[in-house]
Amino acid sequence: MCPAWAWNDSRRRPIRQFRLSRPSSGSNGKDRGEQLALPFDGASNELAPLDATGLDAEIAALLAAHEPGLKLPPLRVSSRMRRTLGSYSSHRKRIALGAHLLAFGTIDQQRAILLHELAHAIVHHRHPKASAHGAEFSEACRQLGVEPFRTVDLPVREWLSNQRYGYRCGRCGALSLRKRRVRSVRCECGEKVSPERADLVALPPDSEPRLLGTVAVRR
Ligand SMILES: [Zn+2]
Ligand SMILES: [Zn+2]
Repeated sequence: MCPAWAWNDSRRRPIRQFRLSRPSSGSNGKDRGEQLALPFDGASNELAPLDATGLDAEIAALLAAHEPGLKLPPLRVSSRMRRTLGSYSSHRKRIALGAHLLAFGTIDQQRAILLHELAHAIVHHRHPKASAHGAEFSEACRQLGVEPFRTVDLPVREWLSNQRYGYRCGRCGALSLRKRRVRSVRCECGEKVSPERADLVALPPDSEPRLLGTVAVRR
């Protein structure tokens, strides 16, 4: 595992611009929620899931070029990884990336983390006893064309502040959003929504909402 990521939150991004609405009813002041203006695409009210197939293809191409003896399974995308952006499990031989990185990060940021973890995978394959960020790691990074950094400066706290818990109404299908995980919400249509799991929703400032994963709702 390589959890050695640091960040700072000094950067600020513009406020998101897609439409959200406050519920017109069912709000008594303490229940300050938002409701996504559905449908997003005119056809369905499903959130777009994250898609890592492009990054998987990149891994396959890089391994073919630099370490053909190593095969890796598809990336694991984890909505549980919050402060950690990426990891490599030498036990499972698997790279994991944080769902927030895929939802909020630029492609360059995603590639930087991906290549860093891929360098760990290659080093472990070549030199199982090598230290995590030693000379072998620097060499693998050089081959992959990424700086052998140990920490990276990404606005993770801001990403997390643009995450919501989504509660899907069983009656009208609307998705009510809350900053905190709550047991139940009152949908705009009046229905009480108390599901076993809530959607974890990313609201990137300049692109459409994305589904990060689901989380259990405490009862
Ligand atoms: Zn590392
Ligand atoms: Zn409803």
